[in-house]
Amino acid sequence: MKEKEIEIKHVYKHYPVANKEVFTALADIDISFQKGELVSIVGESGSGKSTLMNLIGGLDSQFEGDIIVSGMNLRGQNDKALDKYRKNTVGFVFQSFNLIPHLSILDNVTIALTLSNVSEKEKVERATAILSKLGLEKQLKKKPNQLSGGQKQRVAIARALINDPDIILADEPTGALDSSTTLQILDIMKEIADEGKLVIMVTHSEKVAAISSRVVEISDGKIIRDEKNKKYKKAKVKKDKSLERAHKGEKQNLSIYSAIRLAFHNMWASKTKNLLMSFGVAISIVALVIMLSFGSGLNGYIDGVSNSFTNPNIVTIAKKGDDLLGAFVHKPFTPEEKLQLIDELNGALEKNEFDFRVTNENLKPGFSSITGMGITAGFKIEGVEMETENVSYIYTTPPYYSDANLVEGTLSGNDEIMLTPAVYGTMQRLTGEKDIVGKKVTLTVTMNGLEIVKNVTVSAVIDTAVIQSVLAAYIDYDYLKAICMEKGMAEEAFPQSEFYIDTDVDTAAFLNDYIRASENYSGSVEDGLTSMFSEMSSTISIALAIIACISLVVSAIMILVVLYISVSERTKEIGVLKSIGARRKDIRRIFTSESFLIGLLSGVVGIVLSLAIYGIFVAVLNAVLGFAPLSLKWWYFVLSLGLSVGISMLSGLYPSAKAARLDPVESLRRE
Ligand code: ADP
Ligand code: MG
Repeated sequence: MKEKEIEIKHVYKHYPVANKEVFTALADIDISFQKGELVSIVGESGSGKSTLMNLIGGLDSQFEGDIIVSGMNLRGQNDKALDKYRKNTVGFVFQSFNLIPHLSILDNVTIALTLSNVSEKEKVERATAILSKLGLEKQLKKKPNQLSGGQKQRVAIARALINDPDIILADEPTGALDSSTTLQILDIMKEIADEGKLVIMVTHSEKVAAISSRVVEISDGKIIRDEKNKKYKKAKVKKDKSLERAHKGEKQNLSIYSAIRLAFHNMWASKTKNLLMSFGVAISIVALVIMLSFGSGLNGYIDGVSNSFTNPNIVTIAKKGDDLLGAFVHKPFTPEEKLQLIDELNGALEKNEFDFRVTNENLKPGFSSITGMGITAGFKIEGVEMETENVSYIYTTPPYYSDANLVEGTLSGNDEIMLTPAVYGTMQRLTGEKDIVGKKVTLTVTMNGLEIVKNVTVSAVIDTAVIQSVLAAYIDYDYLKAICMEKGMAEEAFPQSEFYIDTDVDTAAFLNDYIRASENYSGSVEDGLTSMFSEMSSTISIALAIIACISLVVSAIMILVVLYISVSERTKEIGVLKSIGARRKDIRRIFTSESFLIGLLSGVVGIVLSLAIYGIFVAVLNAVLGFAPLSLKWWYFVLSLGLSVGISMLSGLYPSAKAARLDPVESLRRE
């Protein structure tokens, strides 16, 4: 008596159908098989042949009875043991070949070894040897759809043999082939059996059955015939020892490198889809990078502006104007309003336990661009009459200005004025003279109908930065007041639209915050500009952050959908991978690698796109504003890459889990 390779004892298989009923597909199957047999299983469609094959192959462990293969009972084995069993003990051949379309012939065959993490060299050597034996040595680099049906089935046989299994299970291997190709495949099957393996083959054709060593017929889930073929001649084949695999990988599993390589092959097969998808994700990356660049760029700009114009000891107070921010067009304070301001500030100071008190003396007056005062100014320089429009505003020099605020020259005193670059430039153009500082000009100021004409010297060009292009002249408050009073103006009539308090840093900071929060007062023009920029910066940042968030969520959903569809499309492939021993973990790893690669690709596309759009923004803003408040930091790219990989892998969790959970029998049944 020969050693029994497979012993099947009283096996029942019930499929659950609707309403808790079951369908009995196999009933009391009792049979055993030996090594070297070429068994044909015949029977009508629906008789239970595939069901039996799936049980023997360890694809389905839900049955009653015992199936003992090489001493191991398949019933009650855990997933891990069954994965190992499929990987090392059985090899499957299917009617519809079930090759993986995006892999080459060589890779289709080596995949089973890849799952055992066998070295590249050994894999290629083994696969090439087996494929050559099957006459496919010239097809290694081709893709499955470039082969004929017979060739495809030979590739599938090579894949089944690669791990040197003891048992080959072939479910209608010739069902899709013509008769001459059928004979070729049968010859191969016979040779495999004659080498000493057990080959069990489901077939419809009695002709195929006739050349097997044994025919088993199933009808309605029962064995109704089991005949040995007395005429079967076992050929003397010398077993190719080099193809034996004595030490099959015990603990070796699909490596991360191989999973990424498999994922890459699949992504490459649908590169357009993946590239388009990564563009979608890239848009969110662009929004994110531009948002961050604007945020830090504007903040940097604001810091620059406020640092160069604000003295931390000085508090500037103006009455809120009629313009949008109430910061640029100031109205004069009446004497009552001034007293009210003093009271209010002192109240706040007292309440917050500051020692400093505002008085009529330490509240220094000034003014800037007063509306409703009928103030105009003009210059006459060395015979050139300048239009009055050439100076639109008169500002008194704020006490916090220092030499740092000058492009050239010195701060003005009596009989002197300072000009903004815009006025300076106009004067240069009109006179043809380069150097205006030091020149005598005739200043004409009209204030409340009072015309004051005065010869003054240009002492400096002021670096106003924020109001470069404003046509303005700066004069000392006391000097302007003195010349107005000289002309008969009442002291009280001279406007005070700004006040400056010079105090310690802490008190100044408190008062500045108080003024900023107040409804009636605003700070200096620079302060106004600073807060306008801050507001702009945060508006732009918030808008871009919202766009970035929405598009990140949309991208995540998009990746999820694409991967989900990919899993559905590749159900069969997943079934094949499971049939050759892929564990859930391996399947999950392949799909996770794919989402990782999608994330990586998206991140890279996103970074390239961000750089391009950043460049365009900088160019456009420089052309329009003369400056571009954007700045890139290297970590934005690290963040982008991390975020796109993270989001992509997060979106891939569900599809990968779904792929890993797929039932191999169902996936293989799928048409
Ligand atoms: P065949 O001999 O054609 O390979 P199968 O083994 O595929 O037959 O199927 C045997 C019987 O079991 C058929 O009647 C089939 O409809 C039924 N069957 C197969 N799979 C399932 C399933 N998942 N659920 C319910 N019934 C099934
Ligand atoms: Mg079948």
